[in-house]
Amino acid sequence: MLVAMGDYEDLLEVTIGHLETRRAGGQRVVTVSQEKLAALAVPLPGNGIGELAVPDADFLVKANSLKELRNLALGCARCDHLVTSRTQVVFGVGNSSADLMFVGEAPGADEDRKGEPFVGAAGQLLTKIIGTMGLSREEVYIANILKCRPDTLGRTSGNRAPTEDEMNTCVPWLHRQIDLIQPKVLVALGKTAVGGLLEREVAITRFRGQWQEYRGIPLMPTYHPAYLLRNQSLGEKRKLWEDMLAVMDRLGMPASDKQRGFFLRARS
Ligand code: URA
Repeated sequence: MLVAMGDYEDLLEVTIGHLETRRAGGQRVVTVSQEKLAALAVPLPGNGIGELAVPDADFLVKANSLKELRNLALGCARCDHLVTSRTQVVFGVGNSSADLMFVGEAPGADEDRKGEPFVGAAGQLLTKIIGTMGLSREEVYIANILKCRPDTLGRTSGNRAPTEDEMNTCVPWLHRQIDLIQPKVLVALGKTAVGGLLEREVAITRFRGQWQEYRGIPLMPTYHPAYLLRNQSLGEKRKLWEDMLAVMDRLGMPASDKQRGFFLRARS
């Protein structure tokens, strides 16, 4: 969406009026987060004189680098309720030209606090999986369908799955992220990630291990690491690991005998 200069001036006037009212009420300090300051520092596209850019789906395609996209995302205010509840936007992390990209569901409490995806318990397992493939977090790219932690009003712990509305509102950021990174292979972790990328309801037990395609990029659906924290059976671990072996194969990464043998039952 582009806002005409007249609208911009109106907005500015309203903002100044609001701040003056607060000052009249005795307030002396206004808190602005680092992300919002960073987002404000991004140069406007177009001629930058008569138009103010506000991030929306059309606008996103004008972000020509991951850095630019990130700065815009950090100031995203499309979901009022999540703007209020989040500590910060969790954009993504890793190599901006990675061959392999992992997509999860949404930040949890740890990610919301740190501003980085997959740093909690499930994240530690994902990091271990990536390491077992012979890679590091810095070599791949990791992002989520939702960039803000879904709020948990009235609850002090736990997470909730993103709503369809939240996913539809947020997923354009991910689409543009993938456009810019152009990974050779995508791994979608769990039902929400697979469904969000393929834009349909999926049963993860039926889809996992079956190659899909996202805009011409091979996509491997697999279990979310949080599922494997809840279900520690060797058989389920092996299924995820077989999906990763298939990914390595697709990327031309040779797997050692040791790697091929992980999570197989000991033979008598
Ligand atoms: N689960 C996710 O899907 N994403 C994260 O970033 C963390 C946990």
